[in-house]
Amino acid sequence: MTATAAVAGVFAERAARARELAGRYAYASEPLRLAGALFEAQASAFERAQADRPSPDELVPYIVRVGLPAVMEATMAEGTEVLREAALLAFHDGDLDGIVAAWLGGGDLRPTDRYLARAASAPILEALPNAASTMRHGESDDRHCPVCGGPPQLAIHTDTGESLVTGERRLQCSRCMTEWRFARLTCASCGDTGGANTPILSDPQRLPHVRVDACDRCRRYLLTIEMPKEPRAVAVVDEIVGLPLDLIAAERGYTKIAPNVMGF
Ligand SMILES: [Zn+2]
Ligand SMILES: [Zn+2]
Repeated sequence: MTATAAVAGVFAERAARARELAGRYAYASEPLRLAGALFEAQASAFERAQADRPSPDELVPYIVRVGLPAVMEATMAEGTEVLREAALLAFHDGDLDGIVAAWLGGGDLRPTDRYLARAASAPILEALPNAASTMRHGESDDRHCPVCGGPPQLAIHTDTGESLVTGERRLQCSRCMTEWRFARLTCASCGDTGGANTPILSDPQRLPHVRVDACDRCRRYLLTIEMPKEPRAVAVVDEIVGLPLDLIAAERGYTKIAPNVMGF
Protein backbone atom coordinates (compact mmCIF):
# COMPACT_ATOMS: atom_id res chain seq x y z
CA MET A 1 0.00 0.00 0.00
CA THR A 2 1.34 3.46 -0.82
CA ALA A 3 1.54 6.15 1.85
CA THR A 4 -1.32 8.05 0.17
CA ALA A 5 -3.55 4.98 0.14
CA ALA A 6 -2.71 4.37 3.79
CA VAL A 7 -3.76 7.87 4.80
CA ALA A 8 -6.89 7.75 2.63
CA GLY A 9 -7.58 4.55 4.61
CA VAL A 10 -7.32 6.59 7.80
CA PHE A 11 -10.23 8.77 6.65
CA ALA A 12 -12.25 5.67 5.77
CA GLU A 13 -11.48 4.25 9.23
CA ARG A 14 -12.68 7.47 10.90
CA ALA A 15 -15.89 7.42 8.81
CA ALA A 16 -16.56 3.76 9.63
CA ARG A 17 -15.98 4.37 13.35
CA ALA A 18 -18.38 7.35 13.28
CA ARG A 19 -21.09 5.18 11.71
CA GLU A 20 -20.47 2.40 14.23
CA LEU A 21 -20.69 4.77 17.22
CA ALA A 22 -23.79 6.47 15.77
CA GLY A 23 -25.55 3.13 16.17
CA ARG A 24 -24.27 2.66 19.71
CA TYR A 25 -24.75 6.13 21.23
CA ALA A 26 -28.20 7.44 20.28
CA TYR A 27 -27.62 10.82 21.95
CA ALA A 28 -24.70 11.51 19.58
CA SER A 29 -26.06 9.90 16.42
CA GLU A 30 -26.71 13.21 14.61
CA PRO A 31 -23.23 14.69 15.05
CA LEU A 32 -21.66 11.28 14.38
CA ARG A 33 -23.51 10.84 11.09
CA LEU A 34 -22.38 14.31 10.07
CA ALA A 35 -18.81 13.50 11.17
CA GLY A 36 -18.91 10.31 9.07
CA ALA A 37 -19.98 12.27 5.99
CA LEU A 38 -17.28 14.89 6.67
CA PHE A 39 -14.51 12.28 6.95
CA GLU A 40 -15.56 10.81 3.60
CA ALA A 41 -15.58 14.27 2.03
CA GLN A 42 -12.20 15.11 3.57
CA ALA A 43 -10.51 12.03 2.08
CA SER A 44 -10.76 13.44 -1.44
CA ALA A 45 -9.60 16.92 -0.35
CA PHE A 46 -6.61 15.27 1.33
CA GLU A 47 -5.69 13.37 -1.83
CA ARG A 48 -6.08 16.42 -4.05
CA ALA A 49 -3.92 18.54 -1.73
CA GLN A 50 -1.17 15.92 -1.81
CA ALA A 51 -1.25 15.91 -5.61
CA ASP A 52 -1.58 19.71 -6.07
CA ARG A 53 0.82 20.82 -3.31
CA PRO A 54 -0.38 24.46 -3.19
CA SER A 55 2.20 26.89 -1.85
CA PRO A 56 1.64 28.41 1.60
CA ASP A 57 0.56 31.77 0.15
CA GLU A 58 -2.13 30.02 -1.94
CA LEU A 59 -3.39 28.03 1.02
CA VAL A 60 -6.44 30.12 1.96
CA PRO A 61 -8.01 30.30 -1.55
CA TYR A 62 -7.08 26.63 -2.08
CA ILE A 63 -8.95 25.58 1.08
CA VAL A 64 -12.00 27.59 -0.04
CA ARG A 65 -11.90 26.11 -3.56
CA VAL A 66 -10.98 22.49 -2.79
CA GLY A 67 -11.91 21.86 0.84
CA LEU A 68 -15.11 23.81 1.30
CA PRO A 69 -17.42 22.44 -1.45
CA ALA A 70 -17.06 18.89 -0.12
CA VAL A 71 -17.82 20.10 3.41
CA MET A 72 -20.95 21.83 2.13
CA GLU A 73 -22.06 18.64 0.39
CA ALA A 74 -21.58 16.57 3.56
CA THR A 75 -23.38 19.22 5.61
CA MET A 76 -26.35 19.32 3.24
CA ALA A 77 -26.56 15.51 3.41
CA GLU A 78 -26.23 15.00 7.18
CA GLY A 79 -26.38 18.36 8.99
CA THR A 80 -29.34 19.49 11.07
CA GLU A 81 -31.76 21.92 9.46
CA VAL A 82 -30.37 24.77 11.55
CA LEU A 83 -26.80 24.00 10.51
CA ARG A 84 -27.76 23.56 6.84
CA GLU A 85 -29.42 26.98 6.74
CA ALA A 86 -26.57 28.72 8.56
CA ALA A 87 -23.96 27.00 6.36
CA LEU A 88 -25.77 27.98 3.14
CA LEU A 89 -25.96 31.58 4.29
CA ALA A 90 -22.26 31.67 5.14
CA PHE A 91 -21.29 29.89 1.92
CA HIS A 92 -23.21 32.28 -0.33
CA ASP A 93 -22.90 35.57 1.53
CA GLY A 94 -19.89 35.17 3.80
CA ASP A 95 -16.29 36.28 3.29
CA LEU A 96 -15.00 32.74 2.84
CA ASP A 97 -11.33 33.65 2.43
CA GLY A 98 -11.62 35.83 5.52
CA ILE A 99 -13.22 33.04 7.54
CA VAL A 100 -10.54 30.50 6.59
CA ALA A 101 -7.72 32.99 7.18
CA ALA A 102 -9.14 33.78 10.63
CA TRP A 103 -9.33 30.09 11.54
CA LEU A 104 -5.76 29.45 10.38
CA GLY A 105 -4.64 32.51 12.34
CA GLY A 106 -6.26 31.36 15.57
CA GLY A 107 -8.91 34.12 15.53
CA ASP A 108 -12.39 34.05 17.05
CA LEU A 109 -15.19 32.98 14.73
CA ARG A 110 -18.94 32.48 14.93
CA PRO A 111 -19.80 28.78 15.40
CA THR A 112 -20.97 28.11 11.81
CA ASP A 113 -17.99 29.93 10.30
CA ARG A 114 -15.62 28.04 12.59
CA TYR A 115 -17.22 24.72 11.65
CA LEU A 116 -16.89 25.42 7.91
CA ALA A 117 -13.34 26.76 8.10
CA ARG A 118 -12.16 23.97 10.33
CA ALA A 119 -13.74 21.09 8.42
CA ALA A 120 -12.49 22.51 5.09
CA SER A 121 -8.94 23.16 6.34
CA ALA A 122 -8.28 20.01 8.36
CA PRO A 123 -7.59 17.47 5.58
CA ILE A 124 -5.50 19.97 3.62
CA LEU A 125 -3.33 20.83 6.63
CA GLU A 126 -3.06 17.12 7.43
CA ALA A 127 -1.87 16.50 3.86
CA LEU A 128 0.60 19.41 3.86
CA PRO A 129 2.52 19.65 7.14
CA ASN A 130 4.99 22.06 5.53
CA ALA A 131 2.19 24.48 4.71
CA ALA A 132 0.69 23.98 8.19
CA SER A 133 4.02 24.87 9.76
CA THR A 134 4.04 28.27 8.02
CA MET A 135 0.92 29.24 10.00
CA ARG A 136 2.69 29.11 13.32
CA HIS A 137 1.97 32.17 15.38
CA GLY A 138 3.12 32.93 18.88
CA GLU A 139 2.77 29.77 20.87
CA SER A 140 5.73 27.43 20.73
CA ASP A 141 5.52 25.50 24.02
CA ASP A 142 4.68 21.81 24.32
CA ARG A 143 1.01 22.65 25.02
CA HIS A 144 0.66 23.65 21.37
CA CYS A 145 1.06 21.62 18.19
CA PRO A 146 4.71 21.26 17.17
CA VAL A 147 3.69 21.61 13.51
CA CYS A 148 1.10 24.43 13.32
CA GLY A 149 1.04 25.89 16.86
CA GLY A 150 -2.66 25.06 17.36
CA PRO A 151 -4.20 24.08 20.72
CA PRO A 152 -4.85 20.41 21.53
CA GLN A 153 -8.29 18.94 20.80
CA LEU A 154 -7.90 15.91 23.02
CA ALA A 155 -5.50 13.62 24.86
CA ILE A 156 -4.86 9.93 24.19
CA HIS A 157 -3.53 7.32 26.57
CA THR A 158 -1.88 4.81 24.29
CA ASP A 159 -2.14 1.05 24.62
CA THR A 160 1.13 -0.82 25.02
CA GLY A 161 -0.63 -4.17 24.86
CA GLU A 162 1.01 -5.17 28.16
CA SER A 163 -0.94 -4.76 31.37
CA LEU A 164 2.03 -3.75 33.52
CA VAL A 165 3.47 -1.24 31.08
CA THR A 166 1.96 2.27 31.14
CA GLY A 167 1.44 3.81 27.72
CA GLU A 168 2.22 7.36 26.68
CA ARG A 169 -0.01 10.37 26.98
CA ARG A 170 -0.32 12.15 23.66
CA LEU A 171 -2.13 15.32 22.61
CA GLN A 172 -3.79 15.74 19.20
CA CYS A 173 -3.94 19.09 17.40
CA SER A 174 -7.35 20.71 16.82
CA ARG A 175 -6.20 22.21 13.51
CA CYS A 176 -3.90 19.74 11.70
CA MET A 177 -4.36 16.42 13.58
CA THR A 178 -0.67 16.10 14.50
CA GLU A 179 -0.06 14.07 17.68
CA TRP A 180 2.71 14.74 20.17
CA ARG A 181 3.87 13.32 23.49
CA PHE A 182 2.92 15.15 26.66
CA ALA A 183 3.54 14.61 30.39
CA ARG A 184 0.77 12.64 32.13
CA LEU A 185 0.01 14.87 35.14
CA THR A 186 0.45 18.25 33.50
CA CYS A 187 -2.42 20.55 32.52
CA ALA A 188 -2.49 20.80 28.70
CA SER A 189 -3.72 24.40 28.93
CA CYS A 190 -1.66 26.20 31.60
CA GLY A 191 1.13 23.68 32.21
CA ASP A 192 0.37 23.25 35.94
CA THR A 193 2.09 20.14 37.23
CA GLY A 194 0.38 19.78 40.61
CA GLY A 195 -1.65 16.57 40.22
CA ALA A 196 -3.95 17.68 43.08
CA ASN A 197 -5.22 20.57 40.93
CA THR A 198 -6.21 18.34 38.02
CA PRO A 199 -9.50 16.56 38.79
CA ILE A 200 -10.64 13.69 36.60
CA LEU A 201 -14.36 13.43 35.82
CA SER A 202 -15.83 10.30 34.28
CA ASP A 203 -18.94 8.19 33.77
CA PRO A 204 -17.52 4.66 33.91
CA GLN A 205 -20.88 2.98 33.26
CA ARG A 206 -21.72 4.82 30.07
CA LEU A 207 -18.29 5.88 28.78
CA PRO A 208 -15.59 3.69 30.29
CA HIS A 209 -12.90 4.81 27.82
CA VAL A 210 -13.43 8.59 27.88
CA ARG A 211 -12.71 10.97 30.75
CA VAL A 212 -12.33 14.66 31.51
CA ASP A 213 -8.92 15.94 32.58
CA ALA A 214 -9.65 19.31 34.17
CA CYS A 215 -7.49 21.91 35.88
CA ASP A 216 -8.46 23.95 38.94
CA ARG A 217 -5.81 26.55 38.27
CA CYS A 218 -6.91 27.68 34.78
CA ARG A 219 -10.42 26.07 34.80
CA ARG A 220 -9.87 24.50 31.38
CA TYR A 221 -10.26 20.83 30.41
CA LEU A 222 -10.00 18.38 27.58
CA LEU A 223 -11.28 14.86 26.99
CA THR A 224 -8.89 11.93 27.19
CA ILE A 225 -9.44 8.75 25.17
CA GLU A 226 -8.10 5.70 27.00
CA MET A 227 -7.05 3.26 24.30
CA PRO A 228 -6.28 0.35 26.70
CA LYS A 229 -10.01 0.33 27.62
CA GLU A 230 -11.22 0.50 23.99
CA PRO A 231 -8.44 -0.58 21.61
CA ARG A 232 -10.66 0.06 18.56
CA ALA A 233 -11.26 3.70 19.49
CA VAL A 234 -10.42 6.36 16.91
CA ALA A 235 -9.68 9.32 19.16
CA VAL A 236 -11.06 12.14 16.99
CA VAL A 237 -14.34 10.21 16.58
CA ASP A 238 -14.68 8.83 20.09
CA GLU A 239 -14.17 12.33 21.47
CA ILE A 240 -17.57 13.24 19.98
CA VAL A 241 -19.35 10.65 22.15
CA GLY A 242 -17.88 12.37 25.22
CA LEU A 243 -20.74 14.90 25.06
CA PRO A 244 -22.24 13.91 28.48
CA LEU A 245 -18.83 14.52 30.02
CA ASP A 246 -18.61 17.92 28.30
CA LEU A 247 -21.92 18.78 30.00
CA ILE A 248 -20.64 17.64 33.41
CA ALA A 249 -17.46 19.69 32.95
CA ALA A 250 -19.48 22.77 31.92
CA GLU A 251 -21.76 22.37 34.97
CA ARG A 252 -18.68 22.48 37.17
CA GLY A 253 -17.44 25.65 35.51
CA TYR A 254 -14.69 24.27 33.27
CA THR A 255 -14.20 25.42 29.66
CA LYS A 256 -12.83 23.11 26.98
CA ILE A 257 -9.40 24.05 25.65
CA ALA A 258 -10.73 23.72 22.08
CA PRO A 259 -14.32 22.84 21.13
CA ASN A 260 -14.46 19.95 18.64
CA VAL A 261 -15.59 20.32 15.03
CA MET A 262 -19.20 19.83 16.13
CA GLY A 263 -18.86 22.83 18.44
CA PHE A 264 -18.91 21.14 21.86
ZN1 LIG B 1 -1.36 21.38 14.36
ZN1 LIG C 1 -4.45 24.52 33.82
